[in-house]
Amino acid sequence: MIDLTLYPENTSIDDEGKLRIGGCRARDVAEEFGTPAMIIDEAALRSRAREYLNAFRSRHPQTEVLFASKSFPAASVIRVLTEEGCGVDVASGGELAIALAASADPKGMVLHGNAKRDDDIEAALKARLGHIVIDSLDDVERIARLASEPVPVLLRVSPAVAASTHAAMMTGHDSSKFGIPSFQIEEVIGRIRNEPLLDLQGLHAHIGSQITDLDQFEAEVEALSHLERFPVYNFGGGLGVRYTSADRVPSVDEYAERIVTTVHRLLGSNLKIMVEPGRSMVARNALTVYRVVTVKRGLRTHVAVDGGMSDNLEVSLYGQPFEPAIIDKDAAAEVVDIVGQHCESGDTLVRDIEVAAPEIGDLVAVPVTGAYCYTMHNNYNAALGLPVVFCRDGKSKPAVRRQTLAELLAREVLD
Ligand SMILES: *Cc1c(COP(=O)(O)O)cnc(C)c1O
Repeated sequence: MIDLTLYPENTSIDDEGKLRIGGCRARDVAEEFGTPAMIIDEAALRSRAREYLNAFRSRHPQTEVLFASKSFPAASVIRVLTEEGCGVDVASGGELAIALAASADPKGMVLHGNAKRDDDIEAALKARLGHIVIDSLDDVERIARLASEPVPVLLRVSPAVAASTHAAMMTGHDSSKFGIPSFQIEEVIGRIRNEPLLDLQGLHAHIGSQITDLDQFEAEVEALSHLERFPVYNFGGGLGVRYTSADRVPSVDEYAERIVTTVHRLLGSNLKIMVEPGRSMVARNALTVYRVVTVKRGLRTHVAVDGGMSDNLEVSLYGQPFEPAIIDKDAAAEVVDIVGQHCESGDTLVRDIEVAAPEIGDLVAVPVTGAYCYTMHNNYNAALGLPVVFCRDGKSKPAVRRQTLAELLAREVLD
């Protein structure tokens, strides 16, 4: 019933039928760190970074792969990926601070944001980031006002590609809140060039997330090829991943092949390519482990776990299907709904899934939670921020510890 192809690369079922990630039993991690907990296969995360870098650099040596840190904004994750050679994309002064805490090289960083405040830009200027991405005329004014030396910038354009993904994940159409719509691009380029301290080096676009049709990336490159030529092109992120056994997605190699061949055909080869994978870098390399708290057998069977929309908003925000499983158990199959512990009917992890007949205390694993789940974890019903644990070669180590109730209460001002 467990589809191991959804789990991190170094996942196995051992001789006693127990699930192991990076050599560690998920059960032992749950005992030691409590539940819910996120487990990351560190070696798989590293190998994914190398897969991305090789896929692009073998075809186009002048490529930078920047991890979109918003998809897993933990310093330990950023550190692993930068150690393997990735740069980092940050979208606020806060994400920049996390990346700097991870000792990431500012030269390999890009700052994004459709609403950068003065303090975000000041932090980026102080750290001397590789590029700041201009997303509006206001950015032009702000950066020009705050800069005291030349600043390398990219211009984010909306390439008028309506990606076929969830509406909430479409970002590259002309009415998007992101980027400059196609009909205003020339005007903004003119304004940037009027500012002596803004050094416009290239264009940026990002058409959306969880995109599984490579034609859309080709359309993105094509849209940029209709504009004037630049030495740097940043195509954003967006490659989709498998969440369930039925999903089919292109490989990183196929994605790189499509981008690079289209670039070479339409833009030439004497330029720098940047890509910013988030979801496809981290999603499969992590899973969330919960414990069953209640099994309610009524009209439907509700199996309630000790987490839910406080640690996974992908389900309620995008209707993203996941494929949870009851692990380490050999029992008759039963069709159930797995629900969270929060006060919302929408707090459901999955409906109508076949699992080993559940009982209180069983462990539930949800694979492919590496992208955007940690990002949006929250304190709904005073849920405490969950721990993140790295597993590698049979050893586990905490990367983020569980929040404490004292930390939660520490922000309250009662006098
Ligand atoms: C979110 C985002 C990404 C990453 O997108 P994924 O779908 O997670 O790969 C990259 N670049 C920008 C500008 C983004 O906003």
